[in-house]
Amino acid sequence: MAGKKYVYSFGGGASEGNGSMKELLGGKGANLAEMASLGLPVPPGFTITTECCVDYFKNGSRLPDGVEKQMLAALAKVEKTMGMKFDDAKNPLLVSCRSGARSSMPGMMETVLNVGLSSKTIPGLIAKTGNERFVYDAYRRLIMMYSDVVMEKAEGIEPAEGQAIRKQLDNILDELKEKKGYASDTDLTVEDLKKLCETFKKQIKKTLKREFPDDAMAQLRGGIGAVLKSWNGKKAVSYRRIEGIPDDWGTAVNVQSMVFGNMGDTSATGVAFTRDPATGDNKFYGEWLINAQGEDVVAGTRTPNPLNNDTRNEQNKHLESMEDLYPELYKQLFDIRNKLEAHYHDMLDIEFTIQEGKLFMLQCRVGKRTGTAALNMAMDMLSEKMIDEKTAVLRVSPAQLDELLHPILDPAAEKKAEVIAKGLPAGPGGAVGRIVFNSVDAVKAAAKGEAVIMAREETNPEDVEGMRAAAGILTARGGMTSHAALVCRGWGKCCIVGAGAIHINESAGTMKIGSKVFRAGDTISINGTRGYVYAGAIAMVDSSENPRFQHFMKLVDKFRKLGVRANADTPADAEVARNFGAEGIGLFRTEHMFYGKNSEKPLFFLRKMILSNTTEERTAALKELYPYVKKDVKNTLTAMKNLPVTFRLLDPPLHEFVPNEKAKRQELADALGIKLSDVAKRAEALHETNPMMGHRGVRLGITFPEVSRMQMKAILEAAAELERDGIACKPEIMIPVTCDANEIKFQKRLLAEVAAEVAKKFKVAKIDYLVGTMIEIPRACLMADEMAKEADFFSFGTNDLTQMTFGFSRDDIGGFLNDYLDEKILSADPFQTIDQSGVGKLIDYAVKAGRSVKPKLKVGICGEQGGEARSVAFCHKVGLNYVSCSPFRVPIARLAAAQAALTEK
Ligand code: ADP
Ligand code: MG
Ligand code: MG
Repeated sequence: MAGKKYVYSFGGGASEGNGSMKELLGGKGANLAEMASLGLPVPPGFTITTECCVDYFKNGSRLPDGVEKQMLAALAKVEKTMGMKFDDAKNPLLVSCRSGARSSMPGMMETVLNVGLSSKTIPGLIAKTGNERFVYDAYRRLIMMYSDVVMEKAEGIEPAEGQAIRKQLDNILDELKEKKGYASDTDLTVEDLKKLCETFKKQIKKTLKREFPDDAMAQLRGGIGAVLKSWNGKKAVSYRRIEGIPDDWGTAVNVQSMVFGNMGDTSATGVAFTRDPATGDNKFYGEWLINAQGEDVVAGTRTPNPLNNDTRNEQNKHLESMEDLYPELYKQLFDIRNKLEAHYHDMLDIEFTIQEGKLFMLQCRVGKRTGTAALNMAMDMLSEKMIDEKTAVLRVSPAQLDELLHPILDPAAEKKAEVIAKGLPAGPGGAVGRIVFNSVDAVKAAAKGEAVIMAREETNPEDVEGMRAAAGILTARGGMTSHAALVCRGWGKCCIVGAGAIHINESAGTMKIGSKVFRAGDTISINGTRGYVYAGAIAMVDSSENPRFQHFMKLVDKFRKLGVRANADTPADAEVARNFGAEGIGLFRTEHMFYGKNSEKPLFFLRKMILSNTTEERTAALKELYPYVKKDVKNTLTAMKNLPVTFRLLDPPLHEFVPNEKAKRQELADALGIKLSDVAKRAEALHETNPMMGHRGVRLGITFPEVSRMQMKAILEAAAELERDGIACKPEIMIPVTCDANEIKFQKRLLAEVAAEVAKKFKVAKIDYLVGTMIEIPRACLMADEMAKEADFFSFGTNDLTQMTFGFSRDDIGGFLNDYLDEKILSADPFQTIDQSGVGKLIDYAVKAGRSVKPKLKVGICGEQGGEARSVAFCHKVGLNYVSCSPFRVPIARLAAAQAALTEK
């Protein structure tokens, strides 16, 4: 392996790598290389590849052969560009060791700054800079980061709560500041810092039983090793789980010469977004801190200054902006902003540092954004001609679109409520829930299906699982680039940060706002779009009325090949589905009229039918049921105007409908003229051991043809009446739970008879309809060619098909699914996303077999997965005509279908 190139240099106006090499160099490394090539002021350095990380772990946590040599050569190159030398007594170069995975994992992995400070190099740096305070400030930071990242975390040490070395050192620092009455780190004097460094080193020795290394090269090796190891750190692993990032990608390590934002009042550091990541507004948006080092801005220890007027808000309005204080530097940064956007054609998230009036770029990456911002930026950049229509469609992810359709606090209700605290609007939408104060409680509550708001002083990467589980996040500290804000924005989760009026006492389990005291379990409501907190529960409403949403969806439909229908069981649902752009109904469940509102009467007649013992009894009951079915069918066809509607014949096992209450049973006994005890007997007779595989679906229509006939008549007469009144309609009759072509033949015979009767009654030549089948049993897939001869269409019922293929009960999988996911036996819940390698193979086979006898066979899917983006892409790939999903997921399916068509190879 000695021949492998593990190290790539960047800086000094040239780079060995470039922005397209994210897999090898990680996102940070690839973009540093790209920025350096663009001629932007990037401190030189080198990137150790992700391959090295992978090989490192294969190699028993040892660097693979050749890395050491390539690294020293690259370091020499950096030294030459900088005109400085690492570990030199007179002119010492300092570096940072930075992590950098392929896709960004904000705050999940480790970085060590100021590497190379030792008793050998410190005097030289002081002599050179004439700034002793700066040197000891850098040194104390190195000690703090290095002991935490390299000496503790990378060693796998798990300290007791509150005993982490970083926490201990922070406490020492805080105590000192308190004793001296300092408000900020910047008040510390040289003498303070010198003493602090000595105290720190002693504390480290005491706690970790090792000396802080006083050797530049040892520090560099330690730093690189720690970044590599941080890939398998606890928080990084849990973040990857949530984000679905593979464990075997590895991280790159960037070693970069240091520039210093902590050299005094003409030095600073900051982070910015080239456009507003919350709203998408075309405004440069950022925060900066004078005399500080990188992580200070995001740590939330000092409130950062606004970059410019556009960034001013409640918390920072009194602080000076860079635009006002250093207009020339601001202009330089603004030009870089424009240059980067023009180059990347996207919104970027950047990090910069100013060292004694000179600007340096330390990072850029495509910025995370809310769903609203994604939509607005895509449409803005399209009209700015920065991107084309295809790119615009690809810029909004299905999850972001989902977020756009997410609920908000009802504005009317909100107006009447009293705002009890204000913070920064870090994550959009609204949330109502009970207060929890830590991640563990959030996860527990969510598992019970409870909505919670996680209230924290500030969040840190250890909190991610709780943040994921919570409905909303509320923090007392931190700015728009704090950890909570970044993570929530990425997830589109409702979040407020920096609500200064709240005081959280985690151990007491209280949150105080003024004189009000809230306890864990109390309900609050938060508006993450505005940053407002309310006591109690405020009503929520859906927010689909973004003015640009419709325009965007028009673009989406331009590129989509797959049709999108909805699963809808009522005229009201059908209406919603149409408004969301559904091109028909792919699944109308007849049985739905027997549940919920207004179901009393039809349910009674259905029960009568079920408990009938003779064909006469049954026919009489069916006659009473008929008008209800017909009315539902007719209203739904009317709501869908001219668009196709697929009516599924009665599907569930009948015993599901038998009442258990005595009064209800008595009523039925009276209606049927039988004894109460006979109702019990007849109900008993319907009992099945395995009802999901029992007397259901088409099997009912085989045993009781009159049940099918009644439904067929209701559908065809409704259609005939509408046609007669000049309303075009397209009914499609779907036969469920088939496993053999003869079942379809049987039902088609009935249908032909009914159709002839209806045609005669309405005096028309023929009634137009399609007849097809659901494919939800593996045998039906295998027999698809035979089935296709009898069917106008197939619709994959992937809920049952998944159940039957895996032999997993849909209703009981919850009991063991998590074990399967945790043990990586399955990579996802197959009831949420189609199992492409198993169930998908059956689908693919059935489509091909069906079309081999009927090339134009119409094929769709109507399982839950039909609205899930990955499944939609799969449906596109295997050539389905349409997907059908719940009305609210229709826009998501449309987008996923367009993106599948656009990214097809
Ligand atoms: P993360 O991936 O968590 O953002 P980074 O590697 O970007 O971590 O480092 C954290 C902070 O340290 C950044 O904000 C950056 O400004 C600062 N930093 C990293 N390397 C250097 C450097 N060579 N010179 C000055 N500051 C640096
Ligand atoms: Mg960074
Ligand atoms: Mg089914």
